[in-house]
Amino acid sequence: MKIKQIDVFQVDLPYSGGIYHLSGGREYSVFDSTIVRVITDSGIEGWGESTPFGSNYIAAHAKGVRAGIEEIAPTLLGKDPRQLDRINEVMDNALIGHNHAKTPLDVACWDIFGKSVEMPVCDLLGGNTNEPLPLISSIYAGTPDDMRERVKRHRDLGYRGHSVKLGDDPHINANRIEECLADRKKGEYFIVDANGGLTVESALRLLSILPSGLDFILEAPCSTWRETLSLRRRTSVPIIWDELALYEEDILQIVSEDGAEGIGLKISKKWWFDEVSKTKRYLFCSRLYNECSRYNWL
Ligand SMILES: [Mg+2]
Repeated sequence: MKIKQIDVFQVDLPYSGGIYHLSGGREYSVFDSTIVRVITDSGIEGWGESTPFGSNYIAAHAKGVRAGIEEIAPTLLGKDPRQLDRINEVMDNALIGHNHAKTPLDVACWDIFGKSVEMPVCDLLGGNTNEPLPLISSIYAGTPDDMRERVKRHRDLGYRGHSVKLGDDPHINANRIEECLADRKKGEYFIVDANGGLTVESALRLLSILPSGLDFILEAPCSTWRETLSLRRRTSVPIIWDELALYEEDILQIVSEDGAEGIGLKISKKWWFDEVSKTKRYLFCSRLYNECSRYNWL
């Protein structure tokens, strides 16, 4: 089986909630998505997608996805899409880095591989656990009252996990957290996600302002490793890493430094394509798919 054609489509995905606010004054209302279709000489075709969250979120650039594919795609023509390691070698030889551009091609080839053996990709990656994975809501930073209302709306829709976004002011952030957790129901859990927008100072002030006993996990508090580890040493609040966990070695270092209770993963992050053994890559793929199911937004 050989790849004979690669089509690229651009789609704007508007945010259904209007404007999505993150710390640092970042705003998003539409997301620039790239869809690829890989067509083979057997007639089987595979589909993949890459949608960076925004050019000032992580170093994944929507227009860069398509520019990267333009660079890579000619080198994939004639290659067997079922040989995923060989496909990734070809892509790495064509373009260093820019893995957000390689992601949709990799996913499309997995799609072809699964169709060619009439197996779902999850079975190729180790098998479906048949365990339902909860989705979390995404409560963008707004006024505390409005955020409480949006938590309620998502609760009514069936969400049991909520990702509460923060802004910059410690006092307003404390109010946001208090309001969002105010109507907590049994079985619900809360992730307070700063998207790297806090300094150690503002994070410590925020945590000191909050009343004790609030049950939440703090995600991506700071924008640098030094700050995040410093904060980690000075608080008992459980911490999840997200934007800073990019490479396989990052994951290993976070674990070795006891730096977190959890790590957020995104399918287009760098380490998807790291040169790991096939077994490990399958494990990573499997975990990434799980994370994509768990995190409906960030
Ligand atoms: Mg996050």
